[in-house]
Amino acid sequence: MDEESKILHSAEHVFARSLQNLGLDIHVRKADTDEPGDFGKAFIKETIPIEKIEEAAESTNTELSKNLEISEYEFENMAKALEKFNKLRFNEDRIDKEGRIRVIKIGDFDYSACKHQHVKNTGEIGLFVVTKVKYLGGETEIDFLAGKKAAEYAIKQSNAALDVSMHNNLSINQINRFIDDLKARLKGSEKEGEDLLRLLLSESKSSILVLKGVKLSEKMPTVSKFLKDNPDRCVALLNETQIFISRGEKNSTDIKTAAENLKAENLFIGSYDDMHLSGKLTDVDRVKEAILDFIH
Ligand SMILES: [Zn+2]
Repeated sequence: MDEESKILHSAEHVFARSLQNLGLDIHVRKADTDEPGDFGKAFIKETIPIEKIEEAAESTNTELSKNLEISEYEFENMAKALEKFNKLRFNEDRIDKEGRIRVIKIGDFDYSACKHQHVKNTGEIGLFVVTKVKYLGGETEIDFLAGKKAAEYAIKQSNAALDVSMHNNLSINQINRFIDDLKARLKGSEKEGEDLLRLLLSESKSSILVLKGVKLSEKMPTVSKFLKDNPDRCVALLNETQIFISRGEKNSTDIKTAAENLKAENLFIGSYDDMHLSGKLTDVDRVKEAILDFIH
């Protein structure tokens, strides 16, 4: 085990205890810090809310900064180990209770049965950061870094957050709320756009609407709903480069013939059937002219 792996693995002990101290029945199923790699991974057999993980990460750093001594104890078996350390952490599934037990003690903060190698003092670890949290099938997977790599990561993340806050003239704490507000406003204007299109379709005598600068694909759900309520109508939407025609069940517009005529004049490339037509157009004014007599 190299020095970086020892740092990462020792930090994991403190983090696991911090999670446990939050009153959660934490059971680290597996942690990969004993394998060489850039970051540590802890798999926990339950869904842990992000706030709790953040709290545990803070507590971990508080403990690390206390320069706690890390020491080893050997016991003949689990019973003897528990006699001395009744708050011992160990993995039920992976430990031989009859065999010899090695306990790693970190100050008076954590006692854990472990066979791996550790640093001698938490001061050697420095910083601990959680880099990613994933929820999968009722389990939580937490990626983390410790030591120099954690410090490098923290600076990068801090600068990225600073960037966002400077660009938007917000404090870092306001960013989440700002994004939530934006999402709500976007949803509101989508709804307004939908209502407006429905109004246009209901009020307008012509069923051909030229919507310049509008993505037609986004309007199709509204048109479909409108045609369900108004099965006698046929609707054509055009923008600078696209055309979309759809008719209701009771409308008799001959979409196929319209499509073939447009194709014959090289005005349209795309697909069509009895009910719909969609594709690219070459000249919006000429297409509009060409379909005027068809759509009714
Ligand atoms: Zn260990």
